[in-house]
Amino acid sequence: MLHSTGPLLSIDVGERTTVETDITEVQERYIGGRGVATRLAHERVPFDADPLGPENRAVFTTGPMQASQMSFTGRTNCTALSPLTDGLLSSNAGGFVSRHLAATGYGAIELAGASDDLVIVHVRDDGVEFEAVPDLAGATVSETTGYLEDERDISSDRTAVIGPAGENEVRFASIMTTEERAFGRGGLGAVLGAKNVKAVTFGGDSAPGLEISATANEIHREAATEDHIMKEQGTVAVMDLANEMDGLPSYYFSERSFAGVEGINGAAVAEKKYKKGTCSACAFACKLPTRDEARGVETEGPEFEVAMAFGSNSGVDDIVDVMESNRLCDEYGLDAISAGNTIAAYLAAEDEFGNRELIWDLVDKIAQRDGVGDTLAEGIGRIHEDLGVGNWSVKNMDFAAHEGRLLHGQALSYAVANRGADHMYATFYSVEYPLVEEAEAMEPAGFEGKADRLVERENLMALNDSGVVCKFSRDFMTPERYELLFDADFEELLAAGARTVTLERHFNNRRGIDGDDDRLPYEEELPGLDDAIDSYYELRGWNDDGTVPESALPA
Ligand code: SF4
Repeated sequence: MLHSTGPLLSIDVGERTTVETDITEVQERYIGGRGVATRLAHERVPFDADPLGPENRAVFTTGPMQASQMSFTGRTNCTALSPLTDGLLSSNAGGFVSRHLAATGYGAIELAGASDDLVIVHVRDDGVEFEAVPDLAGATVSETTGYLEDERDISSDRTAVIGPAGENEVRFASIMTTEERAFGRGGLGAVLGAKNVKAVTFGGDSAPGLEISATANEIHREAATEDHIMKEQGTVAVMDLANEMDGLPSYYFSERSFAGVEGINGAAVAEKKYKKGTCSACAFACKLPTRDEARGVETEGPEFEVAMAFGSNSGVDDIVDVMESNRLCDEYGLDAISAGNTIAAYLAAEDEFGNRELIWDLVDKIAQRDGVGDTLAEGIGRIHEDLGVGNWSVKNMDFAAHEGRLLHGQALSYAVANRGADHMYATFYSVEYPLVEEAEAMEPAGFEGKADRLVERENLMALNDSGVVCKFSRDFMTPERYELLFDADFEELLAAGARTVTLERHFNNRRGIDGDDDRLPYEEELPGLDDAIDSYYELRGWNDDGTVPESALPA
């Protein structure tokens, strides 16, 4: 089975020490990316660690595919204990940093400890440098990347940076790369902030070689030539369909369609797109550099989730307003999905839907933890009672845009996912709209056969996150192609994904997270959900309370 290579580099940012460890055995069983990082974190992060304490570890990993130049491989994984969900969480960013991380020659790079001074950690194949940067305290993402480019000649492609939100330990702070791509969900920016690490840079000439196979070439060619709506509209392409199906969360989840959808849908975004955008080597190029010259707003996106959170869910029907919210989140280093949903909760509490000036002021206040922003920075799960609104989160992760009350398999996924109410953990929505071939599709309503399919999809997504392969490759990757690319049986590859999911669950169990947390705010609307959850546990080989028996713990 193809897997990542190179040792683990452990960096203690407090002690300013580094240690290299051979991790070949882990790589052979967990491929790379999320799988390897999860196995390492499971071993090395204490079960009772404080997510914002020095004992937490942020583990950056690529997979074997980052040594290729295949489309859909410009992605990088970061894993740590999440300050938002309080469980083990992996987040995955696009951009270009994956190739530079691979070029260090390390299979995994982890940051442990906590520095007394604000530092940038430069990781190269010939050593690690700690650069004290007190003057960058409070700097935005673009100010930090500007410093690195001007003073250190390090391009933003090679960086992972936090903004003020990370420094202020906002529970949904992101880590940014190339200024616009995010390790978005779960607050990993706050993990770096708690370690006093403003940025990590990667570089070298020690990338492992990988001959590009005929299969990879075929995929690359198809990605370049396929006429696909995502190339024009990104993920917002699905917004009209969701709205027509009564599945577009609006006004803080109180409604499921939005009268102003035409102002924020795929066509509205496409109108503002001014050039092609992509990740490293990816010919699919689904990214959305957007600009509105009249108002002087320039950003990348918004994608569907952000168009929902800062658009329909906040009562905003102007794509340029949403672009500005997106831009501000990128600058401050905030997960734009959680920021938008949390602000929507506040707008609901204050009856202020559609107030764009208030929205932008709140983004700033959250990033600075100023006034009410200090409360909102804790996320919906922790503050909904203070606001007097419903708890639209699972395991403290606020909901993604794909509506579980419409797409019941997606609801099941939101309930049981180790990462909480996040859409990318299984991407079940793609089966139910559907966005896949008819033979692969399932009816949105009901749970018949969905627990089985969910297990399969979670395992497949864990495989993608370990590869690392972008999940938007779904129209191009077949079981046969996975087998050819990874030199292993498809079932064997899915088994590696299953081991990763179970390890995450076991770690979270040891922190007190179990079946009682696999709950939805609208479960009374979904008859059959409890039985589907029971089936899911059984198929996974877990106990009926959602815990992992020690006998099922993978090596
Ligand atoms: S499909 Fe889109 S998000 Fe995925 S690697 Fe390609 S450009 Fe990046």
